Amino acid sequence: MPVAEMGTGTATSTRKGIVPGPILLLGAPGAGKGTQAKILMADWSIPQISTGDLLRDMRRHPEKNITSVGHQILEMMDAGHLVPDEMMQEIILDRLRQQDTKRGYVLDGFPRTLSQAEWLDEQMAEAIKTLPVIAVSIRVSYTGLLRRIIGRRYCPTCARIFNIYSHSPEQEIHCDADGTALTQRPDDTEEVFTERLRTYEEMTTPVVAHYHATTRFAEVNGDLPAEETNRAIIDAIVRLRN
Ligand code: AMP
Repeated sequence: MPVAEMGTGTATSTRKGIVPGPILLLGAPGAGKGTQAKILMADWSIPQISTGDLLRDMRRHPEKNITSVGHQILEMMDAGHLVPDEMMQEIILDRLRQQDTKRGYVLDGFPRTLSQAEWLDEQMAEAIKTLPVIAVSIRVSYTGLLRRIIGRRYCPTCARIFNIYSHSPEQEIHCDADGTALTQRPDDTEEVFTERLRTYEEMTTPVVAHYHATTRFAEVNGDLPAEETNRAIIDAIVRLRN
């Protein structure tokens, strides 16, 4: 399928009466992009496309990847560095060509550099029937980000996310759903968080400014409880899509 058909609106409308189209969630590491993307995905039956998850899949399924490149990528991630733009663009293009993106999708973690954003603009400009991109930036205080990153634990079996400060599992350090011992992402330490935040400020803040300059941008407060932030995101999408 050509990119031309990505995120195309169809006659099928959502329960809120709009076709969501392409939605970008922007925000620092720990801002809650993944949590919010999952709620939107369930609400609107559109896929969450998380570049971090796509990359982490390599660790879970090493047999699917060319190992030397795969190892280099995992090392970059573990150190809190960005993976080269060309690699990310290839991964995204491949994912956006899949049929489930037709009514829209939530991009979580892409674009993260100005050149990725410009590349995405070009893809969208070449597309024939796609709806314009809506970008929502989730703003969270430094302390909020730190607590979410340092406290985050995930289940290696079912990928559920917990937080030892705000959403702890019922049985200490075991997944509520399948009992697997929870684990911490290698890049969720305080040291790597500092590097990821520095990278975000240097490389991704210009991306937020890039979308801020368009007419389809909103900023929401991510320090609120997840449901309140989600309401603000949905309100913004509905407003910007009309
Ligand atoms: P995330 O799960 O979104 O925090 O991403 C985890 C890591 O994956 C990042 O720290 C980067 O190393 C890598 N990554 C994810 N998305 C991108 C992207 N768009 N560009 C470059 N690197 C990325």
